[in-house]
Amino acid sequence: MLGGGQLGRMMSMAAARLGYKTHIYCPEKNNPAEQVSYRATHADYDDIPALEKFAGEVDVVTYEFENIPVSTVEAITKTTPVYPNSKVLEVSQDRLTEKNFLNDLGIVTAPYEGVSSLAQAVDVLNDISYPAVLKTRRFGYDGKGQAIVKNGDDLIAAWQKLSSDKVIVEGFIDFDIEISVLAIRGQDGEIKCFAPVENQHKNHILDLSIAPARIDDEIRDEAIKQATKIIKEIDYVGVLTVEFFVSKNDPMLRVNEIAPRVHNSGHWTIEACLSSQFEQHIRAICGLPLGDVSFKGEARMTNLIGEDILKMPTLLNDPAANVHHYGKYEVRAGRKMGHVTWLYPDKI
Ligand code: AMP
Repeated sequence: MLGGGQLGRMMSMAAARLGYKTHIYCPEKNNPAEQVSYRATHADYDDIPALEKFAGEVDVVTYEFENIPVSTVEAITKTTPVYPNSKVLEVSQDRLTEKNFLNDLGIVTAPYEGVSSLAQAVDVLNDISYPAVLKTRRFGYDGKGQAIVKNGDDLIAAWQKLSSDKVIVEGFIDFDIEISVLAIRGQDGEIKCFAPVENQHKNHILDLSIAPARIDDEIRDEAIKQATKIIKEIDYVGVLTVEFFVSKNDPMLRVNEIAPRVHNSGHWTIEACLSSQFEQHIRAICGLPLGDVSFKGEARMTNLIGEDILKMPTLLNDPAANVHHYGKYEVRAGRKMGHVTWLYPDKI
């Protein structure tokens, strides 16, 4: 596994349940994933001898975050299979490539245009109109590398905040809810999708997931259809997450982005589904049959961010709360420290 965060930790635990031993490869020591894994290698992602040694010691490689250099995956692929493939990394690491790929497939996104100067941004905003969102093409997550422009007056400040010349200008979507679909594709091409989940953010970080999403059946079916199309087209193996904007006044479902990995919005599947997103990913990359995606009942998941983790003793008094601690040594503001899932919740 390339990467040692909480997603790697939960994948490693799912792998252990199926009898596999996981070897974590990441530069950071004391990471959440290696605490529950068989072995760890601490080396940089461009350390080719270390990557080759690692690749020689494992049967199959996957990754838990999408900013792994494509060259790292390509170096490993010479001797050892890597799922998902490096093509999807290239697509999802660059917002412009990603949006072009989706639109070429006939999938609708926010209107967008790539720009490399403030003057070009001004031109594009004349077409796309305000409000709009400026995003750096690469390395954005949880709202980082993003700025909203409400009108021309805040454009210069927004441009300076991003301090990049590889930017995408996107029309602002006045959505009612955000949903995501976690799709899984096996090595034999079998595809399954979990029911769409509804996601609410606070300070640009996922705060609450409600599963299943409170949407009409037609929207549910259309979201699953689109996620299925994307995962099939990219010859993908593993779990792929597709995020959508849903608006009452817009007949179009719009894809915001795709993530080539298990996802925070799928944590509820650990307790609520017969086979979690983590187990499904392991099944897919190991060439096993996919598991059941049906769920036992409604679920809600909330992240424990920063000092929220200190509520753990209280949360553990609630028999309905399934509490997860990621084993991170240091509490930091904005850091994902754990999460809680409630099954069949009346309310939170
Ligand atoms: P992203 O990093 O692209 O996933 O964006 C983070 C969050 O910012 C999304 O989950 C949305 O809540 C919001 N956002 C991103 N792009 C747009 C957009 N074009 N219109 C409205 N809200 C957006």
